[in-house]
Amino acid sequence: MEYQNATKCIHLQNNENVEKAFGAVSFPIYQTATFAHRGVGESTGYDYSRMQNPTREQLEKTVAALEKGIDAIGFTSGMAAISAVMELFAPGDHVVIDADLYGGSVRLFQNIAAKNGIVFSRVDLSREEISSYITEQTKAVFLETPTNPMMHVTDLKKLGEITKPRKILLIVDNTFLSPYFQNPLELGADIVIHSGTKYLNGHNDAIAGFTVVKDEELKEKLRYIFKTVGSCLSPFDSWLTLRGIKTLAVRMEKAQENAFLIAGWLKEQGQVTKVFYPGLPEHPGYDIMKKQSRGYGAMISFEVESPELAKRILNKVRLLQFAESLGGVETLITYPIMQTHADVPKDELAENGITDRLLRISVGIEDGRDLLKDLQQAFNS
Ligand SMILES: *Cc1c(COP(=O)(O)O)cnc(C)c1O
Repeated sequence: MEYQNATKCIHLQNNENVEKAFGAVSFPIYQTATFAHRGVGESTGYDYSRMQNPTREQLEKTVAALEKGIDAIGFTSGMAAISAVMELFAPGDHVVIDADLYGGSVRLFQNIAAKNGIVFSRVDLSREEISSYITEQTKAVFLETPTNPMMHVTDLKKLGEITKPRKILLIVDNTFLSPYFQNPLELGADIVIHSGTKYLNGHNDAIAGFTVVKDEELKEKLRYIFKTVGSCLSPFDSWLTLRGIKTLAVRMEKAQENAFLIAGWLKEQGQVTKVFYPGLPEHPGYDIMKKQSRGYGAMISFEVESPELAKRILNKVRLLQFAESLGGVETLITYPIMQTHADVPKDELAENGITDRLLRISVGIEDGRDLLKDLQQAFNS
């Protein structure tokens, strides 16, 4: 019988590697570059740590189990994972990308992948009909749901019904909800991507990334790219991420509880003009989220009445930290226009509503009352 998600965070089912490790309850760090063979043709299953490493493998199996895939690969960063996925395509291939994406992904697509001959179309998948953008050359659709930072929500099942019969790969960056709240592979996605730096690690102490697939052929293709391009997660960072995942369930629940508290408070502030949190029933994506995920996450974007106020809040917060990144136990507040999305072309920012009045909070697991108090003093000082 398959374990529930919270159990899967802590225990890998049917795992002989745990038994081989003297019963160590915390999985060992195999800090080795290479593995000796007993004789010709006698491998232990491990040859060289770029290809396989027991600590990374333990982590990969845990992420695959949580995402309900057959294979996960541990990369040095989320961007390394997305870059490897781009190697699936050849010059002339067409990829539809969502209009609102993590700024680093936009930079990769527009400046690196495009240079290699891959053609991109930006489409607001939460609102627009995708069919009219699909051509003979269309090989993939890439999106986040909810998106970073505008929290647009796309119906993955509906999208999968369009991509699957046309053999177009549906690629979903699931960083914002983590596998604890959403499993895109079950909703029709072919590849799931994670910045493991965020909720999976959860402690802001390592950079990591993952691809997860449910299909043997894609697994082989990505494994081949992985061992060839070589952006393999180190044993120690694998271990840190593995340890972080043990508490994923409790962290997600607590962060979400705090997020509801903060979203509710923001809504009542006269100086706040808009709150983007998909857990609010008035959010346009709320009904889709209710169907396709088990939670709403802990990311909130909001707009204040003036850029001066936005900057004042960033300067005045004390408990909340003014820092890039998300998904850790610490609550962070970000200025997307100057940080995560600084390299996105200005017209695209404006079109998406990413203005100098927009702030984004990654809600952590502190006592929510302390977070509210800090926001209160930052707003009113
Ligand atoms: C942070 C992030 C990435 C990039 O991951 P890194 O680990 O920083 O390379 C990709 N997608 C989303 C949604 C992110 O938040």
